Amino acid sequence: MMAAVVGLLSGRSAGFYRRKRLRLLAGPVGSFSRQSSVRTNGSDAVYDVVVSGGGMVGAAMAAALGHDVHFSDKKILLLEAGPKKQINNLSTDYSNRVSSITPGSATLLRSFGAWEHICNMRIKPFRRMQVWDACSEAMIMFDNDNLEDMGYIVENDVIISALTKQLDAVSDRVEVLYRSRAVGYTWPLHYQTSDSSPWVQIDLTDGRRLQTKLLIGADGQNSMIRKAAGIQNIQYQYDQSAVVATLHLSEATDNNVAWQRFLPSGPIALLPLSDTASSLVWSTSHEHAAQLQSMDEENFVDSVNYAFWSNANHSDFIDTAASMFRSTVSLLMPSGTTARQLPPSVAKVDPKSRAVFPLGLGHATEYVQYRVALIGDAAHRVHPLAGQGVNMGFGDISCLTNYLSAAAFKGKDLGSLSHLLQYEKERQRHNLSLVATTDLLKRLYSTSMAPFVLLRTWGLQATNALPPVKEQIMAFASK
Ligand SMILES: Cc1cc2nc3c(=O)[nH]c(=O)nc-3n(C[C@H](O)[C@H](O)[C@H](O)COP(=O)(O)OP(=O)(O)OC[C@H]3O[C@@H](n4cnc5c(N)ncnc54)[C@H](O)[C@@H]3O)c2cc1C
Repeated sequence: MMAAVVGLLSGRSAGFYRRKRLRLLAGPVGSFSRQSSVRTNGSDAVYDVVVSGGGMVGAAMAAALGHDVHFSDKKILLLEAGPKKQINNLSTDYSNRVSSITPGSATLLRSFGAWEHICNMRIKPFRRMQVWDACSEAMIMFDNDNLEDMGYIVENDVIISALTKQLDAVSDRVEVLYRSRAVGYTWPLHYQTSDSSPWVQIDLTDGRRLQTKLLIGADGQNSMIRKAAGIQNIQYQYDQSAVVATLHLSEATDNNVAWQRFLPSGPIALLPLSDTASSLVWSTSHEHAAQLQSMDEENFVDSVNYAFWSNANHSDFIDTAASMFRSTVSLLMPSGTTARQLPPSVAKVDPKSRAVFPLGLGHATEYVQYRVALIGDAAHRVHPLAGQGVNMGFGDISCLTNYLSAAAFKGKDLGSLSHLLQYEKERQRHNLSLVATTDLLKRLYSTSMAPFVLLRTWGLQATNALPPVKEQIMAFASK
């Protein structure tokens, strides 16, 4: 199953890109190149770029373009189905939806001014990440020797609010339509006829029609743009849901470690919010998730502490094999061993902070077509165990903005496939490895069968003892 998925996801070659470019430049093929049946109304607004979907990724894309010097004479529009979200007075209660943000994503957000707004609202840096196996206690510790931040835990609402502020700051360049849902798209032909529009046409719920030279699809995992463009999406639902909640710790600590323990039923993560509060992301079976959501607060807190501390999944055989391997590794590489830290215990859960989200994998086989590019969850969806979903989306933005900025500077057509395909190639290479690795980890850790437990235990112990390998992993994951 796994091999089939990876094969499907990564079966592209340099030849593919050459063939694809020729095919798309040659003219209409399949559902994408439908003849426009609607005559262009001369009064329709024509934008250089329309970003459809103003979640964290779409809003950041619009803000990044609005800040780009080569886009100063361009018309940019952000369409968002929901209302404008701006925090004026930050509540003392934390939101239950948070993201672990990598230094690479922070750099992107800083480049157009949103990071400063985030830092002025609420953010918790973390310095270490400890990941361990509930079946063997084999662990890996990621940390920076030079005490730099490894990443940041930020509430999603805070990120959106910072982006909204930044969009307001560039309102002369970026128009934003809130409560505006796109309900239909008409694609241009690659050749012109007297009654066809050269642009993508977008129909809104209120009957308005817009046109754009480039449509950027940031409309999330169920992307309407991806479907309307006929782009295939490899996808399946996992047998897990994530339970999120805001937790209060038994005592105040520096709380600068992100913790994740792999239970056979799924990973449980504790992400720092402050010295006394952490955010929970517990992936488990749908039935267990429903129980966790409905149980009383005391039982819920006991379940969380038990999940982090219990040895119920240990076996003598695995414990002995792991201990022998650990001793051998520490003899061979004394400098490679790291002291285990103990996670904090939880005292309380915020009332009403519990929520459940079904989990799944998705990957679009194409990120671009003529005049269309997909970014964020519209292009890829991963299990939250690696905390990479929105970071991959921010990576898409860095890459696409670079190509579009260069195209604008050279006066090229923004919707041209020549640079869009370069974006696709660069991002698929990065994102595919993350999608496949995350899926592999999810499967490898979803079993308590001895051979698999032994394999992953030794793998984790060996990786933990090899600082260069850990550095490579950190460098890749922090982009
Ligand atoms: C429990 C959990 C924990 C997670 N933790 C992390 C983490 O720690 N780190 C991390 O990097 N990622 C994490 N993720 C993943 C991350 O939340 C997603 O990758 C991210 O939210 C995707 O953002 P997006 O903007 O691409 O899509 P969305 O957030 O889905 O936004 C899409 C937007 O498009 C709008 N829209 C949709 N259709 C239309 C339309 N037709 N017209 C106009 N607007 C439209 C919607 O209103 C919405 O605002 C986690 C996910 C889950 C479920």
